[in-house]
Amino acid sequence: MRRLYYTADIDRDVNVRVPGRVAAGSLDRGFGDAPRFSSSERGLGAILDLLDGIGIRGTLFFEGRTSEVIDCARAAGHSIGVHGYDHEDLTSLGDDHLRGTLARSFSAVSDRVGRPVCSRAPYMTADARVLSAVRRLGIRHDSSSYTDVGSPSEPFLLEDMVEFPVNKARDPGGKVIAAYLWPMHEGRRGPGDYIAMAASAEGDIVIADHSWHMVETRDGGVMSREDADRASDDVRRVIEGILDIGYRPGVIRWSRTSSSWTVPVSGPGWRTTIGPPGAVGSRWTGRRPRRASCRTSMRSRRPCASAGSIPRSGRTRSWALSRGSLPARGRDGRSSTRRAAAGWSAWAS
Ligand SMILES: [Zn+2]
Repeated sequence: MRRLYYTADIDRDVNVRVPGRVAAGSLDRGFGDAPRFSSSERGLGAILDLLDGIGIRGTLFFEGRTSEVIDCARAAGHSIGVHGYDHEDLTSLGDDHLRGTLARSFSAVSDRVGRPVCSRAPYMTADARVLSAVRRLGIRHDSSSYTDVGSPSEPFLLEDMVEFPVNKARDPGGKVIAAYLWPMHEGRRGPGDYIAMAASAEGDIVIADHSWHMVETRDGGVMSREDADRASDDVRRVIEGILDIGYRPGVIRWSRTSSSWTVPVSGPGWRTTIGPPGAVGSRWTGRRPRRASCRTSMRSRRPCASAGSIPRSGRTRSWALSRGSLPARGRDGRSSTRRAAAGWSAWAS
């Protein structure tokens, strides 16, 4: 059974890095780069309406700051995660600054939405040190990495956390596509691209979105009501289209029973156990040596996320925490869904 995880980052509007500053700003549209939050708030409302309409729950990663500024109480029924406090590149922070930032974010999000159970690093930049600091907050799930659709993409164990990678692929034209929906909001992709990508996948798929992107584009500014309605409809078509080809909806959430890590998924009766941490690791090591290799690499403090840093041998393959530049190669597709999605391939082969 393959699962679809719809996730969204609840960022400041059109977040941009500001040179010389740790905190992100918003794209300067002639009024400076101070962070704005109105599109993020409206977009969150659109996402919640959308998920309610489909009848599924999502996973929402909140910046601490954004959770303090916008009305986010309605999000409480969804799986809640942290996404930095001021959309910092967490890998750039010193140890004390990193711990303080994460604690502040955790506290803000806990107070206003609900206790975070997962995390996604801003800019998708996480390393072993960041994951370890997140882990100390009691968070057991992360989604700050990418994986190609040509490989099995169930959650896997990483630094004692369960990692849910966002998918990437190459479309039949050879162009890289990630399961982040921003190109669709910017008019450069259509819902069918993401549905075809899911059809080509061999495992779960994690779709990622930004709340502000539901009502504002980087290139075009704040949308008209008609365009915002169209944006919501496009996201709905992506989700429903992927569910229609046999995926079950899931949320990224951790809970612990007596000896098992479990991943409850939304919808009546669906729940799966992925086993105690030790069992998960040993089972997956056998099936996917590339990930065991990465864990070893991170334990030895080799920077897994840096380009081309992971040695490959035999079937061992690499994955990228952030920059999407590591080589990866998909397996030959044999399933009917793979044949139906002929032409799709691993994103970095
Ligand atoms: Zn973000």
